[in-house]
Amino acid sequence: MGGWDLKIGEIKQSYVTDEEIWKALNQFFTHASTKMSYKYGLLKSLIENLYNINENLELMFNDVFYSFTKIYWNLVIHHNLWQSNSKNQISAIQKTLEDICLKYSIPKEWTFDKLPYSIQIETLDSIKKIGEKYVIGAFYSDTNSIFYEFNIKRGYLKFNRPVYKFLQKHQRTITYLTNYHLAKFLESNNKIPNINYLLGKVEVISKRDSLSKYLEILTKYDKEYCFYCGKVIKKEKRNKHVDHFIPWSFIQNDNLWNLVISCQKCNIQKRDNLAEEKFLDNLLLRNQDLSKEIEEENNNFFINYKEEKLIQLYQYSIYNGFSNIWSPNIS
Ligand SMILES: [Zn+2]
Repeated sequence: MGGWDLKIGEIKQSYVTDEEIWKALNQFFTHASTKMSYKYGLLKSLIENLYNINENLELMFNDVFYSFTKIYWNLVIHHNLWQSNSKNQISAIQKTLEDICLKYSIPKEWTFDKLPYSIQIETLDSIKKIGEKYVIGAFYSDTNSIFYEFNIKRGYLKFNRPVYKFLQKHQRTITYLTNYHLAKFLESNNKIPNINYLLGKVEVISKRDSLSKYLEILTKYDKEYCFYCGKVIKKEKRNKHVDHFIPWSFIQNDNLWNLVISCQKCNIQKRDNLAEEKFLDNLLLRNQDLSKEIEEENNNFFINYKEEKLIQLYQYSIYNGFSNIWSPNIS
């Protein structure tokens, strides 16, 4: 297929139907060159950053490749999985990650989250260079040049509007498909007990070890009560949970504007469900306050946040099958 050495890509056809997008995606899954696992990793990273676009549907490479780097660190270092289809040819990304691991004597069992921030950034910079060179253009070509336009020098890609809508509408299915194909690729090139072993790993590969960083920020601004049931949360840390308002399994990201503090009981009861709509309204208000206070401290957490985005996300969650609406048991 080629396309890997492109520096700039334009959208070949800006009006595309859902059928045409499914066709391009199917072709990508079934015919894309499978020498390396990269393109699945890129699609996973795009999905994870679907709600990090700016108002022009542009996604910065820094965001895309932060997810991408985290995914590959966890696959290569933490899970020790080979990323090319040839035993004799190590993938450039795997080589880079292993070199960094060696350079700083990082224990193999460490996940990306455990790395000191400076090493995370150094790793991101190296992986981004490889990704810009070998992955962005290749994925663009493999999906028929209709998914996005991009400019390597300016460091961004811009979604084709109908494709962006499509990804929102079918986010959950595409996540499943991508995880499945990535796991399948890894299965053919690694010795593993069974495909479920890998599928389980791939599904949570970008999940954070801990949300304590967010707990700290939220505790500073929110009062000490549960976002859902409103009860005061007992002082002990284990009673205080950070909850993904839109379930993590859908959004696959930890945007601060989607995180709330909840008591243990609500967190456990809510699980993978959506909360009823009045909590969406409450969250929109909470975000108004939180973003104002955070702005003063020069924080980036709300940089691409828009109220419409959260409302859309809520609606698309339901559209994608999160139709079991939860409300707290207040008694
Ligand atoms: Zn509660």
